[in-house]
Amino acid sequence: MNYYSTNGQVKDASLDEAVVKGLAADKGLFMPDIIKPLPYDFYENIDKLSFQEIAYQVADAFFGEDIPAETLKQIVYDTLNFDVPLVPVTGNIFSLELFHGPTLAFKDVGARFMARLLGYFIQKEGKKQVNVLVATSGDTGSAVANGFLGVEGIHVYVLYPKGKVSEIQEKQFTTLGQNITAIEVDGTFDDCQALVKAAFMDKELNDHLLLTSANSINVARFLPQAFYYFYAWAQYRKLGRMEEMVVCVPSGNFGNITAGLFAKKMGLPIKRFIAANNRNDIFYQYLQTGQYNPKPSVATIANAMDVGDPSNFARVLALYSGSYEAIKAEISGVAYTDGQIKETMKQVYQDDHYLLDPHGACGFRALAEGLMPEEVGVFLETAHPAKFLDTVQSIIGEAVEIPAKLQAFMKGDKQSIELSKEFADFKNYLMKQ
Ligand SMILES: *Cc1c(COP(=O)(O)O)cnc(C)c1O
Repeated sequence: MNYYSTNGQVKDASLDEAVVKGLAADKGLFMPDIIKPLPYDFYENIDKLSFQEIAYQVADAFFGEDIPAETLKQIVYDTLNFDVPLVPVTGNIFSLELFHGPTLAFKDVGARFMARLLGYFIQKEGKKQVNVLVATSGDTGSAVANGFLGVEGIHVYVLYPKGKVSEIQEKQFTTLGQNITAIEVDGTFDDCQALVKAAFMDKELNDHLLLTSANSINVARFLPQAFYYFYAWAQYRKLGRMEEMVVCVPSGNFGNITAGLFAKKMGLPIKRFIAANNRNDIFYQYLQTGQYNPKPSVATIANAMDVGDPSNFARVLALYSGSYEAIKAEISGVAYTDGQIKETMKQVYQDDHYLLDPHGACGFRALAEGLMPEEVGVFLETAHPAKFLDTVQSIIGEAVEIPAKLQAFMKGDKQSIELSKEFADFKNYLMKQ
């Protein structure tokens, strides 16, 4: 299958090229030429299939022409070695818990899949080492570092702002060793991101090292996120339910929700989507006005959604041929303040005994406020509440148990390279690798 760029200058790129480059040469995002609907049979029998079996069929629709069946199956099965349960919360609202992977966040799915797919292309074509650069304010770094750990032919550099990530987040990418290097930058997250961008633009550096990124602009990271929308439907069918679902996705860069839009295009019975935002409400404003006005991000307690210019907005536009009316017909939006997020977490914990994280809380609240009486809603619970320990504990006024997986990271020793925020220093360091 070939890929085109949302900026229209690049056509017929191969999967290999799209995955290795990440961004198209015209700075657009890669999109698959075809989105194949899955057959009637698949939907008829979906409740009898395992998560891995479902995911393989979805993966086959996108990647089957480019990767041998056995290899693709292996990649899917290795990626999904954890469950994504659909849990009833209250009334007609279900939580799709995406936080049972190694770093307890949904980004594990895309990061693990991308690592294995990239590893396959490197081995097959005898490419020289590929270097993944990733800037993180906390969660992306841990998912990418753990997803790529030990994958041959790939080295990962995680750049993070010194003193600005929690200890538990820091431990998840500074204690791994092997092919993972953590770089502690004396600056902010924006400085880290600027260093990564400058590195991709620097010709001398790119002649020396093969560089790529692992954020949701990469098709290999964002497409696999479609898998769990299908699995949500399978679990729902198993409960004997048939109604189309309303799906609510806590959104930042809009990679996760875009994967859901792909699933709907493949025939998954999703009635409509809700994009839940925090105070970074660029998409919500777009839905109100038809104008897309990116802004600098503001800090909130749902910090993985603190995005002022969602990178996958270009993909949403491409899916609906740029039609504001068509987008509005399938996706609605909400935006919540920190106060509203806290209120929801506290109330749902008290009334329904369900502990939400700040991101999932936006998703729950959107359904609680926006479902019609006859509708059934699923929100994506994108991270385990223990990842935001201080915030969550101060809101519910109780201690939260830290899962064993998270505790295990705390035992490791931190190893990192300290650098200034000057590009010259970063470049100098990379030129010596
Ligand atoms: C990354 C992230 C999001 C936002 O996902 P996008 O694909 O960027 O929209 C939401 N919640 C959590 C916990 C995240 O880590």
